[in-house]
Amino acid sequence: MGGHHAASGAAAWVAVASTGPYTLGWYPLDATGIVIGAMATGGTALVCDWDHRSSTIAHSLPPLSNVIAVGIENASGGHRQGTHSILGAGCFVLLATMAAQFQVHTRWGLLSVGAGLLCMFMINIAAKALKLFPKSGWISNWVFALLMAGLVTWFAPDQWTWLPLSMLIGVGVHIIGDLITTGGVPLLWPIVIKPPRLFRRVPLLRNVWRPNGALSLPLLGRAGSRREWLLLIPVSAYAMVGMALAGWELARALVPDWTLIWARLGL
Ligand SMILES: [Zn+2]
Repeated sequence: MGGHHAASGAAAWVAVASTGPYTLGWYPLDATGIVIGAMATGGTALVCDWDHRSSTIAHSLPPLSNVIAVGIENASGGHRQGTHSILGAGCFVLLATMAAQFQVHTRWGLLSVGAGLLCMFMINIAAKALKLFPKSGWISNWVFALLMAGLVTWFAPDQWTWLPLSMLIGVGVHIIGDLITTGGVPLLWPIVIKPPRLFRRVPLLRNVWRPNGALSLPLLGRAGSRREWLLLIPVSAYAMVGMALAGWELARALVPDWTLIWARLGL
């Protein structure tokens, strides 16, 4: 389910960019990077399903996104094949790294056009999957995405280094999510080794090494199971608390600027 992938992606980002640095000294980021990175990772946690023509991301920017979905489906051998493997994850991270390199000199300084556009696209699909604006359709999703990407470009243009990491975390969380809920993922694709006939009868092994060669750890049962929902509630709550704390910090950082502006305007 798209929303579940997006929520776990955002939670993983909060863990790496916010909780991790404070407790273990990992990758420290400021409030902008935590909030916007979490939303972006909600989106990067959905790119693996671009191999399916009815996925959220396939419908995100018609007709381009639909055409890409069919292309990926053909190139990666169908749904839940190449894009759900270590090789597929590597390709997505490489693409994000390349996008982050694309910069343009303008009179306002160096603008990270590639990273900005990719981030905007990722936030748009995260907003869609999480049903952030359920009543007012795609316009509010895009406006929200544009604002968020604009915030980074404006306040921290040198911060885009986190984009490939966001892709790595998002794709990783997606693959793990499918590994523990669905019929499994072909981690070593294009190398797919099907189990010998004898193994297919061994009770536990049969569920882990699937007849189609995929690897599965069905800890949460089928996709959409009660166990999946039970895990999702604390995961989503954690993501929301982390983002709210950083958002509060961000809002406080913005306040003095506004009072300065008002003072200058003589208000
Ligand atoms: Zn998937």
